[in-house]
Amino acid sequence: MREFDVVIVGAGPGGLTAGLYSSRANLKTVCVEKMMPGGQIANTEEVEDYPGFEMIGGAELAMKMEKHARKFGLDIISDNVTEIYTDGRYKILKGDFDEYKAKAVIVSTGGQPRLLGVPGEKELSGKGVSYCAICDGAFFKGQVIAVVGGGDAAVEEGIFLTKFGIKVYIIHRRDQLRAQKVIQDRAFKNDKIEFIWDSVPVKINGAERVESITIKNVKTGETKDLAVGAVFPFIGFVPNSKIFRDKINTDDMGYIITDQNMETNQKGIWAIGDVRKQLCKQITNAVGDGTTAAVAADKYIEAWDD
Ligand code: NAP
Repeated sequence: MREFDVVIVGAGPGGLTAGLYSSRANLKTVCVEKMMPGGQIANTEEVEDYPGFEMIGGAELAMKMEKHARKFGLDIISDNVTEIYTDGRYKILKGDFDEYKAKAVIVSTGGQPRLLGVPGEKELSGKGVSYCAICDGAFFKGQVIAVVGGGDAAVEEGIFLTKFGIKVYIIHRRDQLRAQKVIQDRAFKNDKIEFIWDSVPVKINGAERVESITIKNVKTGETKDLAVGAVFPFIGFVPNSKIFRDKINTDDMGYIITDQNMETNQKGIWAIGDVRKQLCKQITNAVGDGTTAAVAADKYIEAWDD
């Protein structure tokens, strides 16, 4: 078992920021990450709403954040945390490879794509159904692509996919987008994008690969097939809070509830970024949350022997 002052679970922008502040406070800190550092931004082509960078590649920003945090001594370990329990005042986290003992834990586990839950989605996943435009978009060069959703992710990724597709349908269940106005305007000006309003997918079809998507108009009940080579659902995501749910208070959707200092109902456990219940899920929010949680954890550890 390895012992630390602070264990951060998840190395997205929030976790890396918490790691930077915690390491700078001279606390022995580790970030345990099951994938690669950077979280969702590592798979985002361009970021244009992070102050100080008018435009920066998501992977580049992630690397800068990682390098910056490591410079102050943050340790980043590749492991998948599967369990957390309390041993006196200490928290023990079990991973696939090791166990971690901590005075303070910061949960920065983000979320994962919400599934459509329609027939054909699972069967054709990786065969034309994808949740990452930057990873898979290039496979669909010259094809017709369907994007599902009306939020920032769907519209931004829809625009990105026009680099490859000859046409991109954005299928949305209402007749108004949820995405930020600036992103909407850009999509409305893009003549490769066709919006299909008031419609939801009911089935994704194809023998070996995606061949079409069946959609239903929620107002008229009418269904029709669109011939497409790929389907990218971007309908929000599910917070990665499963392993904490019986210990930490969450809302009905699984978002962790914190106070203004990011502390959960469990003393010594903080939650930050997209896994936490809050209004926005922006990089700036995660970074701010990470700062607050690290400072709060530092004060908590300072008072450890009082
Ligand atoms: P989101 O904002 O929750 O939007 C999800 C979209 O999917 C909504 O339009 C929703 O429709 C639709 N939807 C939900 N469930 C559905 C279902 N079962 N069937 C069909 N459609 C469904 O999610 P997101 O776009 O992934 O963004 C998540 C967060 O990340 C947001 O806070 C967003 O601001 C942030 N983000 C920001 C940027 C950026 O700033 N550049 C980029 C990406 C993401 P309704 O509108 O009818 O609810």
